[in-house]
Amino acid sequence: MAERISETLQKKLSERLGFYEDLGIQLFYRARGSAAVPDSRLRLDLPATAHISTPDQKEQTLPKPAGKPVLPRNAAAPAPVSSKIAPLSVAAGPSLFESVDKIAGDTLLKVREDLGECTRCKLHSTRHTIVFGDGNPKAQLVFVGEGPGADEDAQGLPFVGRAGKLLTQMIEAMGLQRNDVYICNVVKCRPPENRQPEEDEVSTCSPFLFRQIDVIAPKVIVCLGAVAAKTLLRTSRGISQFRGEWLEFRGRKLLATYHPAYLLRNPPAKSEVWKDLQKVMAVLGLQPKKKAQAP
Ligand code: SF4
Repeated sequence: MAERISETLQKKLSERLGFYEDLGIQLFYRARGSAAVPDSRLRLDLPATAHISTPDQKEQTLPKPAGKPVLPRNAAAPAPVSSKIAPLSVAAGPSLFESVDKIAGDTLLKVREDLGECTRCKLHSTRHTIVFGDGNPKAQLVFVGEGPGADEDAQGLPFVGRAGKLLTQMIEAMGLQRNDVYICNVVKCRPPENRQPEEDEVSTCSPFLFRQIDVIAPKVIVCLGAVAAKTLLRTSRGISQFRGEWLEFRGRKLLATYHPAYLLRNPPAKSEVWKDLQKVMAVLGLQPKKKAQAP
């Protein structure tokens, strides 16, 4: 049976929802898979990652409820994932930012300012530099990788190591230059020993990625590797099950392919990636500048 929440908690909840409504955030989703949450854990404040600043930066001051409905609308609406690979296994812990509409007036600069000198997850303690993202802020094509490596951590730029050089070759083979596209990662700090980012790190950092994608509004998103694909599609299925298929992320075309680092270890897979990129070229109307060759 559903647990009743106390009047005090109801009041706090109402005030907090009113606060978000004043910010223009109207859609809320209950955490999938958590049927009952003890009162002590029932929080609707933004997760540590999801910093929202009001214009006057007084985010700690909750406005009084405006006397209008503040309960979540469309609370049962499905997450915006592809119908093509349904049913997806949904990962735990959706972030608030993942569930809300695009933030009006958001810019890459604001996203970067909100990120600040981030210490929201444990990766901050071992990083040297936050690797925010790089490229054309109005790119039609966004590449999303997993996280920075040693070279990226040192330079503050994504994909500048060996895998990055291969990505650059791939981009140029598509008839583009690196600065025509935007390149970023799921997590913005290097995981120690280049391990995969852990679930809490991904869920903490990814709201900033979602905002970047919303701001850039690309025609096509290419996920490089399983971590990026699983994060954006919220699936636990292996990348090989949907690699090269057209999927969707927040209304945008998304295609997942192998990470360049994987290609360095498995060169024969380059031909598969090149086929995937040719699909992207067809959608974007790109012609290779020289005779098309697998990178
Ligand atoms: S990985 Fe993301 S959330 Fe974690 S400290 Fe770095 S910027 Fe912050």
